[in-house]
Amino acid sequence: MTPTRVLVLNSGSSSVKYQLIDMADRSRLAVGLAERIGEETSALHHEPLAGGGGKRERHGRLADHDAALEAVAEELAADGMGLDSPELAVIGHRVVHGGLKLTVPTLVDDAVLKEIERLIPVAPLHNPANVTGIRTAQRLRPDLPQVAVFDTAFHSAMPEHAARYAIDVETADAHRVRRYGFHGTSHAYVSRKAAELLGKDPSEVNLIVLHLGNGASASAVRGGRCEDTSMGLTPLEGLVMGTRSGDIDPAVVFHLGRVAGMSMDEVDELLNKRSGLLGLCGDNDMRQIRRRMAEGDAAARLAFDIYIHRLKKYIGAYYAVLGTVDAVVFTAGVGENSAPVREAAVAGLEELGLAVDGELNAAGGKEARLISPSYARVKVAVVPTDEELEIAEQSYALVASR
Ligand code: AMP
Repeated sequence: MTPTRVLVLNSGSSSVKYQLIDMADRSRLAVGLAERIGEETSALHHEPLAGGGGKRERHGRLADHDAALEAVAEELAADGMGLDSPELAVIGHRVVHGGLKLTVPTLVDDAVLKEIERLIPVAPLHNPANVTGIRTAQRLRPDLPQVAVFDTAFHSAMPEHAARYAIDVETADAHRVRRYGFHGTSHAYVSRKAAELLGKDPSEVNLIVLHLGNGASASAVRGGRCEDTSMGLTPLEGLVMGTRSGDIDPAVVFHLGRVAGMSMDEVDELLNKRSGLLGLCGDNDMRQIRRRMAEGDAAARLAFDIYIHRLKKYIGAYYAVLGTVDAVVFTAGVGENSAPVREAAVAGLEELGLAVDGELNAAGGKEARLISPSYARVKVAVVPTDEELEIAEQSYALVASR
């Protein structure tokens, strides 16, 4: 029997998300989340999707990622789908930063792990957790291939004129300061699905992909390759996000240091955790912001307007970068669910060939769909993202090709 199952692990700084997927039919066998790792209030939410059984919860301290992954392995084993199962083909890991060298899904060995560790200075929040996740998985199943799939990979095709900041080249190179881009697994998956929806090969279409979740990024995709993306050295650049500022004059940092006496770490925390929608109006959930707007809340209205204004600037910029655009594609939590955001982002762009059909936009649904009227020169689409499936696809394809 050829093993067809892939365990996808997404290890964050204090959480591990996982899915067990059977590539024979792309079905999910189990999904779950270990959260608040390292705290007294750790929890593990596990849901077997094959064979029923319903959700299970564990509460109580999971001391570290090792303990969390062991608990995940126990839950899977209780469902007869443990890590020792001969049906498990590979463990696929989401790794946030692959830098300039790790640009394709990669079988993990010591050299690869070292390279992911070497990149910790440019991804201090994410890469350490990713390394821990890989090491623990290796310890639990030393004989099983482990594949790393990088968030930066899709953007590594960006041309140099989009990837470089206009700063002193020697300083930039010495410290690896350049634009890497993130959410690449999502942008890759959604671009492919959008091409499918348009009935074309990815190589034939130009797309503006808007991944609007709690983190948010836009990308300009020409013929299946990334030509520009809004996140840069870190995921802070670009669009207004749930808690991140996105684009800002870098001098704001010096100003806050000099005038407000804030330390580097304090400014870092401000721009990453207390800015964006949250900083503007106290809420980072688009649903809550819309509710407040309906009640006439001015701060929520302004936060929404700033969010949309930035989004429009990126649509315009990427339209200019691409020259011709086949579709603007919305994805992730806000992009898939917020009809008002989609409508506002495209409003007034009829001269560019863009329009949204009110009814199609409001209809909702879990499938990839067009929401533009038939006359629109540039289509507008909603394409649900599925980063876990994409990681599983890429990991499985790599081991199957060996
Ligand atoms: P993600 O990071 O892709 O999981 O997206 C999470 C964000 O999506 C949340 O913070 C909300 O702002 C947004 N979101 C989720 N569901 C909805 C919805 N039904 N309407 C509007 N926004 C939503």
